[in-house]
Amino acid sequence: MRLLVFSDLDGTLLDHQTYSYDPARPALDRLKRLGSPLILSTSKTAAEVAPLHAELGLGDAPAIVENGAGLYRPGEAAQDDSAYRRLRAVLADLNAPFRGFGDMTDAEVAEVTGLPLARAALARQRCFSEPGLWRGDDLDAFTDTLSDHGITARQGGRFLTLSFGRTKADALREVAQDMRADTTIALGDAPNDLEMLNTATYGVIIRNAHGPGLPTQPGEATGTIRRTQAPGPTGWNAAMTDILTELTEKGAFDG
Ligand SMILES: [Mg+2]
Repeated sequence: MRLLVFSDLDGTLLDHQTYSYDPARPALDRLKRLGSPLILSTSKTAAEVAPLHAELGLGDAPAIVENGAGLYRPGEAAQDDSAYRRLRAVLADLNAPFRGFGDMTDAEVAEVTGLPLARAALARQRCFSEPGLWRGDDLDAFTDTLSDHGITARQGGRFLTLSFGRTKADALREVAQDMRADTTIALGDAPNDLEMLNTATYGVIIRNAHGPGLPTQPGEATGTIRRTQAPGPTGWNAAMTDILTELTEKGAFDG
């Protein structure tokens, strides 16, 4: 079996408050022994995710960044930011009351996100998508105009994020095909993870004690999607241990 594991970061592999992944170490080590790559899948930028990618020893495995709008490829010297520059050029033409990260200073991004200043600087190093604040009256007209340019707008908690429309699920499909995976596991805790969880062979909804909770998914009845009791990396470890044990019992890792 060629298994790939796709994981969201905040509230999933990383603890919501401490950002620690310590409780997930046993399952992370087991994946490494099996030779099954871990593909981080996050709203963060490549610049933000690179240090964690290195710390986890993920080698040349790509990571899904900016919510699926693009991939971080560790081997490449410079990340391709042409999509972001195209996006910014459309915004400059429209001159709409949308204030993107590219219009803000590091300090302003730190203020609106709550990130420390150094992290805010990394969050501004974008390649594929533009989060920002909408300050106009007619959001529908703005999104209609954007869609004429092939740009999708997605409202998250605080930010309206513009991209050329790819989701974490699209990126999962691309990476799984590139890396010739026949089985995929995806783990996440938020609405923007759902498409990815429904696309993978096995989806895991990590309990999020800070959100409203995700609606019941069709896969929960058929057993392709499961939920954890524990939040964050503790739930991650429990679910991954269960799935890897089930696959091992089926003989998936033999030969
Ligand atoms: Mg999350």
